[in-house]
Amino acid sequence: VLASTPVDLQTLLDEIAAAAPAQAARGKVADYIPALAAVAPERFGMALATVDGQVYGSGEFREPFSVQSVSKAFTLALSLAREGDALFNRVGREPSGNPFNSLVQLEYEHGIPRNPFINAGALVVVDQLLTATGDAFGELRAFLRAETGEPALDCDAVVARSEAEHGHRNAALAHFMASYGNLKNPVEVVLDHYFRQCALTMSCADLARAGLFLARHGVRADGSQLFGRSEAKRVNAILLTCGTYDAAGDFAYRVGLPGKSGVGGGILSVLPGRGCLAVWGPALDRSGNSVAGVHALDTFTTRTGWSVF
Ligand code: GLN
Repeated sequence: VLASTPVDLQTLLDEIAAAAPAQAARGKVADYIPALAAVAPERFGMALATVDGQVYGSGEFREPFSVQSVSKAFTLALSLAREGDALFNRVGREPSGNPFNSLVQLEYEHGIPRNPFINAGALVVVDQLLTATGDAFGELRAFLRAETGEPALDCDAVVARSEAEHGHRNAALAHFMASYGNLKNPVEVVLDHYFRQCALTMSCADLARAGLFLARHGVRADGSQLFGRSEAKRVNAILLTCGTYDAAGDFAYRVGLPGKSGVGGGILSVLPGRGCLAVWGPALDRSGNSVAGVHALDTFTTRTGWSVF
């Protein structure tokens, strides 16, 4: 598949990494979680993992960072694999057009979050995984360890504690949904699993490899099927329409791929049938997406012509 590329991939990744530090000045590192605020804004890494098992990278692509909401792509997949469409009785699948931590829409819509990637929706997904498995975080970690082949992959306890100590808004969202009967487990338990999920530490190379099942239409690293082609399509569709929050339209316009961002500055993007891209640049735009990361993905798909369109 990759032989058809018009450009040398390594050269392109190196050019993108060289241009990245200049982009960081347009954004700002997340500071509402104090443990994230200490990261230097101009750091950058980018990895491409291909369906045939190769990993290309540039910059700090092996440097671990806090994946934050990028983890929500994986919890949605794990939850959908177990529940199928029944999951969508409790959470929608339309773009929110609102910030990821907005409370107001949740009241209008009676405690049913607009999609699985805004914080409220991700809390419902974790709650569902908790009910199904008894250990949502453990289930996610085991999946990521298996897909990356990194047995030590784990969450950063300092970041998780920092999120919990400053997590009033997430607690408010969770309590609000509980008041509508849309959380089955105790709020504190759901939040604990959610904060640990967000505090997972992974590199671009790890993330790109972990996401490959979405590029392989549901096939995991060991050749087994997490779910079928049609569920992989559905997860990729929600990534495209909702994965970068209220900037999903702009992301689709510029990058043309399904993608999931996190406030740690990571973005995972899927090239169905070809591979996965992961980028990291901590400075964020107003929607909470990495400025250098979006620019890098935009450059990559523009230069290669690889997008879903
Ligand atoms: N842990 C962060 C939060 O709950 C994740 C948000 C994000 O990455 N967009 O606010």
